Amino acid sequence: MTKKPETNAIRDQLERTQFMEHSVPLFLTSSFVFEHSEEMRAAFADELDRNIYSRFTNPNTTELVRKIAHMEGAEDGVTFATGMGAVFGTFAALLDSGDHIVSARSIFGSTHSLFSKYLPKWNIETSYFDVDSPQQAEALIKPTTKIIYAETPTNPGVDILDLQYLGDLAKRHNLILVIDNCFATPYLQQPIDFGADLVIHSATKLIDGQGRVLGGVTVGKKDLIRDIYLFARNTGSALSPFNAWILSKSMETLAVRVDRHCQSALEIASKLESHTKISWVKYPFLPSHPQYALAQKQMSQGGNIISFELKGGLQSGQQFLDSITMLSLSSNLGDSRTIVTHPASTTHSKLSTEERGKVGISDGMIRLSVGLEHPDDILEDIYQALDSVS
Ligand SMILES: *Cc1c(COP(=O)(O)O)cnc(C)c1O
Repeated sequence: MTKKPETNAIRDQLERTQFMEHSVPLFLTSSFVFEHSEEMRAAFADELDRNIYSRFTNPNTTELVRKIAHMEGAEDGVTFATGMGAVFGTFAALLDSGDHIVSARSIFGSTHSLFSKYLPKWNIETSYFDVDSPQQAEALIKPTTKIIYAETPTNPGVDILDLQYLGDLAKRHNLILVIDNCFATPYLQQPIDFGADLVIHSATKLIDGQGRVLGGVTVGKKDLIRDIYLFARNTGSALSPFNAWILSKSMETLAVRVDRHCQSALEIASKLESHTKISWVKYPFLPSHPQYALAQKQMSQGGNIISFELKGGLQSGQQFLDSITMLSLSSNLGDSRTIVTHPASTTHSKLSTEERGKVGISDGMIRLSVGLEHPDDILEDIYQALDSVS
């Protein structure tokens, strides 16, 4: 009988060593030894599947990949030092000079910089479609297009993109669909079920879930992963065994943590909706979300990110942050500690109001990454901060 994802995230562990440990140990070693030259030859010739050097593979990274790939329904995967390492490694391994990307407009800031500043150096261009009309994507496809890319839910607008639509589109045009599934985690949404070829995670966020370590992973089709693995192995953004060990332990509690994150986020989002100083609240599992039905179809719960707009605009956003007492002011997300950010004065301050509008960010918009504190305490801090906003 196939086991449930929560069980696999705990039991997909490495074989025990001769010490019969219960919890998997940390293999803090840079290299591995061989009994004789023939074994070494076979390992380097890829005839033998074993660890050679921790820039290539390490038991702890192997275990982490196994757990995430299993939960995502992927054939295989490769780990990276960070989420951006995974994003860059995936694109750099698969694309050649002259290739073209079709991407959703609302994407993580550093991914946008990769597409707009760095990939053009190798003659790789990107065209963007709006998140509320993915049908635009088809018209952007050219003979040189190789990859369709999107994140859902998006950051920070928590818009939902139709994975089935994108999966069908990619198949029709023989393109590779890559989804950054960071906000949903492998527990809430499995893009491969809808036709994605590759799924990327910043494990730094909810997979770690406690704001300790950085990590990234790409999982998906075996042949594509092989190319990405060889690129990663030769270019050096390897995940540290220590971070892999932390992240693999975190996978054991992912389901219970994310259940609580989602339960609190839904409760907080519903309560904020009726507050007089807030014009709108966006959360994928609130019936008022424009893509509520779609969110219900492709996610099992709504995640831990809420966005809402203060009626007072830019100034109110900063006042709100200055009045917060317990919650953290940080750009990170997916931590056990609730985090508030004001994108218009920070991460997206270089864009004009109009440009921000295009990626779903208004001047008074607040992003809330709901943590694991008691929801009453999170709400109390938000309410008292709202009181001091004009
Ligand atoms: C944080 C994040 C990344 C980058 O991950 P790092 O681990 O910080 O490099 C990529 N995509 C999304 C959606 C993210 O939130």
